[in-house]
Amino acid sequence: MSRSRVLITGGAGFIGSHLADLFLSRDWDVVVMDNLLTGDLKNIEHLIGKPEFQFFKQDVTEYIHVSGKIDAILHFASPASPIDYQEYPIQTLKVGSLGTHKALGLARSCGAKFLLASTSEVYGDPQIHPQPESYWGNVNPIGVRGVYDEAKRFAEAMTLAYHRAHGVDTRIVRIFNTYGSRMRLNDGRALPNFVCQAIRGEALTVYGDGAQTRSFCHVSDLIEGIWKLLHVDTHDPVNIGNPNEIPITEFARKVLSATGSSSAIKNHPLPEDDPQVRQPDISRAREILGWEPAVSLEEGLRMTVPYLEEKIRQLGNETLSVPE
Ligand code: UDP
Repeated sequence: MSRSRVLITGGAGFIGSHLADLFLSRDWDVVVMDNLLTGDLKNIEHLIGKPEFQFFKQDVTEYIHVSGKIDAILHFASPASPIDYQEYPIQTLKVGSLGTHKALGLARSCGAKFLLASTSEVYGDPQIHPQPESYWGNVNPIGVRGVYDEAKRFAEAMTLAYHRAHGVDTRIVRIFNTYGSRMRLNDGRALPNFVCQAIRGEALTVYGDGAQTRSFCHVSDLIEGIWKLLHVDTHDPVNIGNPNEIPITEFARKVLSATGSSSAIKNHPLPEDDPQVRQPDISRAREILGWEPAVSLEEGLRMTVPYLEEKIRQLGNETLSVPE
């Protein structure tokens, strides 16, 4: 029997590269397409040269083609941290719209399944808490985060349109805050910022009063949920995240304890449209995937902090730009 083959757009990024590893470990051939805008070849350098792995440096907002059969397309290409999508607002809108259209067109022409990486950002600053998939969200379309939120909302609409109009076998995963190895040190997210600051003995930059909450999921749990979602027959969006919700100040304290740092915590202004609360309702994932997260925050930090520390060490005397 011939092996299955998956195309992962954004496969040189944080989550995409973990998916590449997972599919290879489960005997799939993997093709990664990435324009390396925010992705990094280092995340997949251990795969280059393997016969079952291919990499194409390409922008998925242009026409895309891959020769040979493709059984599944995982569309993960996009800047994904608030700092990144504010630095690349037009690319973010284009990859969510034009890129999703191109990837869906390829899925249609190959008869491949299509899985869209959507986001908890479709719920915006939510007025329903925790957030079930049935919630339509509270997004500011013209705010600084709108470029990402609306691109992903458009991408969901386009995905369902291809399913309804063309019968493409689609999936939509709504990904909540995820952490783990291969996060970029300077992507501006809370975890890399806090770890860098803790290790360098600088004050941790907690935005606002730090009472805003997030629910952090280890990447190993997330990719297992995505694997399961690809293998069940459902076209509705499914939240994948860890419902263990904590205020950001408490998260900063957990980083201090995981790094053994005695840095102070300093409050900075809250960025525009920063959601006040976020917690996934994962009833649907439990029911249809039989999935729930297994890694506690403490355990996940124990696995992730040494990776980030090593990356900081490799930088040596280079100045680290930590967005504040
Ligand atoms: N945050 C913070 N300090 C930082 C970076 C982020 O207090 O140095 C806060 C941010 O305002 C948000 C939360 O941490 O409330 C999570 O931010 P992140 O950028 O990791 O992801 P988001 O959930 O906002 O997309």
